[in-house]
Amino acid sequence: MEGVAKLRPGARQVGLLNAPEPTATPGHVIIEVTAAGLCGTDVHIYHDEYPSRPPVILGHEVAGRIVDVGADVRHCATGDAVTSEPYFFLCGLCPYCRAGMPNLCQRRRSIGSGVHGAFARYVRVPESSIHRLPDGVDEWGGALTEPLACCVHALENTRVEPGDVAVVTGPGPIGLLMMQVVKAAGAQVVVIGTETDEERLALAKTLGADHVLAVGKDDLQTSLAERTDGLGADVVFECSGAGPAAQTALDLVRRKGRYVQVGLFGKPVLWDLEQVCYKEVEVHGSFATVSSSWRKALALLRSGIVQTGPLISHRIELAAWQQAFDLFERREGVKIVFTPA
Ligand SMILES: [Zn+2]
Ligand SMILES: [Zn+2]
Repeated sequence: MEGVAKLRPGARQVGLLNAPEPTATPGHVIIEVTAAGLCGTDVHIYHDEYPSRPPVILGHEVAGRIVDVGADVRHCATGDAVTSEPYFFLCGLCPYCRAGMPNLCQRRRSIGSGVHGAFARYVRVPESSIHRLPDGVDEWGGALTEPLACCVHALENTRVEPGDVAVVTGPGPIGLLMMQVVKAAGAQVVVIGTETDEERLALAKTLGADHVLAVGKDDLQTSLAERTDGLGADVVFECSGAGPAAQTALDLVRRKGRYVQVGLFGKPVLWDLEQVCYKEVEVHGSFATVSSSWRKALALLRSGIVQTGPLISHRIELAAWQQAFDLFERREGVKIVFTPA
């Protein structure tokens, strides 16, 4: 089978790799991939800004059908419509594994970076990573369970209270999911983009954002001040992974507020750390997911409180992978998914 892979170390070393079809080893299942989301992490790997073990097929946001199960697989069967956590190998012994934090295991290997991922017709994952898709959630929207779970985890790492005014910077797929999760937690949400984000900001409104603002067009400080008695946002979620947005988010958070970094930059950025002192800001990082993030993400999908399907703007065949990466970098549309099966 052919997969879109990081072929060798270095920037732009991505292309089609001919790999043998995976077989179902004990404790593992084979998913025939219906939909696999292209994520910022894949693009960071493309630019050699995120660790990977080439040659390795990319892709960690997946939904599809189980077509084979290995020995000792008890909880899933051929034909199940599923999604998967990205975790392929965890040591199980380190303090993080023992504490239920697989995202922080130093020996972790995930599909799409450490082992072959979902940008191919078939992907092998351990049964322990599998989740059946809820009724009413198709394999398209289901492929976005992983980024949704990442947003749920960002909320797990901070707190949002009813009546809070939250800011989400970056109306890409993560920002649009984060906005919905934060709304579900009871806050009013202001989504901030740039002047080129017009379509994405319109989608944010459709999906429930209370207000949208564009850098360079709107006066962010004044707008936030008007909505918060001059204090600023209670909590900010930086979802763009762009340095200037990180600074904007820090400028907008109130004294004693919370700043959560969700987007990945791929490089160091300038950030006025002194404000963290003056304003006594609580700063939280958030990386990937833990088990509870998946349980809540699937509940949000099942109930329809969060919608992932409307984010999908492009469905692209694996062979046209370059077009997909180019669209991503030009920030056209919102979510690009590959259609391997
Ligand atoms: Zn992702
Ligand atoms: Zn571990």
